[in-house]
Amino acid sequence: MITRMSSLFLRTLREDPADAEVPSHKLLVRAGYVRRVAPGGYTWLPLGLKVLRNIEAVVREEMDAFGAQEIQFPALLPKEPYEATNRWEEYGPNLFRLKDRKGADYLLGPTHEEMFTLTVKGEYSSYKDYPVTLYQIQTKYRDEARPRAGILRGREFLMKDSYSFDLTDEGLSQSYKDHRDAYIRIFDRLGLEYVIVSATSGAMGGSASEEFLAVAETGEDTFVRSTESGYAANVEAVATPVPPAQSIDDKPAAQVHHTPNTPTIETLVDFLNANTDRKFTAADTLKNVLVKVKHPGKDWELLAIAVPGDREVDFKRLEAALEPAEVAMLEAADFAKNSFLVKGYIGPGAIQANGVRFLADPRIVTGTAWVTGADKADHHVVDLVAGRDFTPDGVIDVAEVREGDASPDGKGVLVAARGIEIGHIFQLGRKYADAFSLDALGPDSKPVRITMGSYGVGVSRLVAVIAEQSHDDRGLIWPRNVAPADVHVVVAGKDETLMGAGEDFAKQLSAKGLKVLLDDRKASPGVKFADAELVGIPTILVIGRGLKDGTVEVKDRRSGERAEVPVAEAVEHLVQVVNS
Ligand code: ATP
Ligand code: MG
Repeated sequence: MITRMSSLFLRTLREDPADAEVPSHKLLVRAGYVRRVAPGGYTWLPLGLKVLRNIEAVVREEMDAFGAQEIQFPALLPKEPYEATNRWEEYGPNLFRLKDRKGADYLLGPTHEEMFTLTVKGEYSSYKDYPVTLYQIQTKYRDEARPRAGILRGREFLMKDSYSFDLTDEGLSQSYKDHRDAYIRIFDRLGLEYVIVSATSGAMGGSASEEFLAVAETGEDTFVRSTESGYAANVEAVATPVPPAQSIDDKPAAQVHHTPNTPTIETLVDFLNANTDRKFTAADTLKNVLVKVKHPGKDWELLAIAVPGDREVDFKRLEAALEPAEVAMLEAADFAKNSFLVKGYIGPGAIQANGVRFLADPRIVTGTAWVTGADKADHHVVDLVAGRDFTPDGVIDVAEVREGDASPDGKGVLVAARGIEIGHIFQLGRKYADAFSLDALGPDSKPVRITMGSYGVGVSRLVAVIAEQSHDDRGLIWPRNVAPADVHVVVAGKDETLMGAGEDFAKQLSAKGLKVLLDDRKASPGVKFADAELVGIPTILVIGRGLKDGTVEVKDRRSGERAEVPVAEAVEHLVQVVNS
């Protein structure tokens, strides 16, 4: 295949687009891969579409390889299935809802669990039919609050979504593993640097959900990794190691101190250090944070959370821990209504005496002694011992995770890094099968409820993610597996001999099965070189001054290495480079 720049629908830009912040967005626009139509809506131009299709092909091959079968739903979907699962409401403002001419409600699919479940229910009825895994590579619509970074977070984007249907939990584990392995192969073939992080704390059973995050400074997701092991996790999923319980017998009795004007941890610690002969730090104090929680279908209720005073409650961890309940901070009116809460001096005593649920950080084990509020303005209690003076109603692991914290696997300490979510695998269980009564008739003619997994890859996002990980200040540098061409032939001059030689090389390379981008424009060599670097084909063949002495130049876009190659050997040399 030869693509000629003289007629290619491509205009590169010298300037970065005004709305672009991250490198991939700037470069994909400048190199003429995509053009913006609306916030989060982009047109794929010829080069961009080639990269997108190449990525799609890798994804499709690896899905097909483990027996997943491709189908395709419409993006325009009726409301009813999404009403049956409550998602018509629950999806909130991210869902594009619309009406047809008769006034019937429709939506543009943000993800397709309902449709896949119904389709399997429509076709299959016997246990002999299972297991089955179906997938599609299809345009998704989400009215994202913050479309961002070009195609990285679009409101219309291409996703591979698949769904596994199994008779047993063991079957689901196998389907999950098949996907996990396929994703590893996909992202390896795409040349990505990524980590697999657990997305849930494992409370629901081991690896119920994992995310694949491409490592990138510009990523929106923060994760932590161990300095000494392969441990990596979403901040929401980090399980704080529990220290051993201590003896309560040797602890001094709890004592209330008059601590005037000490409503903050800092003022409290300063006061105690100035007025007692012991040395306290913020980590010796117990901070009792009050929030309100609303479980589905119930009223708001108070919840108290105790954390060591040197740490804040991480709201994202809190939301994840309490899901599906909603959570909010207390307002002045809530304090007014609950006068036993003495702001700045709240202790476990008043909380538990007034029937407020009281959950504690995992570090607050039996025998640990704390300085905390005495439920009276300007008073604190010292040596309040867990398991002796107070017993929390349970544990909640929602304090902030910090760099330097011990890794939960006991190896090394945690450091923070940023990433972009490229894939998500999730054991759904029977939620959707329950909603639609998806059963198979078992061998004993009794119905067996099907269990499901759902799995996604952000296909269009991957174009940007690869660009994000693979570029320099002059342009894009595509990994060979996704590049829009194998060789970029640059004719560095306008005379006919050079042009003829360029055409000739392009034909020979094409005959060998290589995809060639031929710069046969009548532009200056400088312009052509700059465009070649911007466009990012991994190998560049320059036909220039050396031709009259029988040589051409082969340049590696990534390393910048150049080699003078005799004309007679150039085609073979390039075939080898491309296939190596
Ligand atoms: P994010 O946290 O980035 O919003 P998500 O949790 O909403 O992702 P899923 O619903 O699991 O993502 O979708 C599967 C995959 O689709 C994601 O891993 C991601 O790669 C991709 N994806 C999700 N939202 C977008 C978007 N707005 N634009 C492009 N790709 C997206
Ligand atoms: Mg999202």
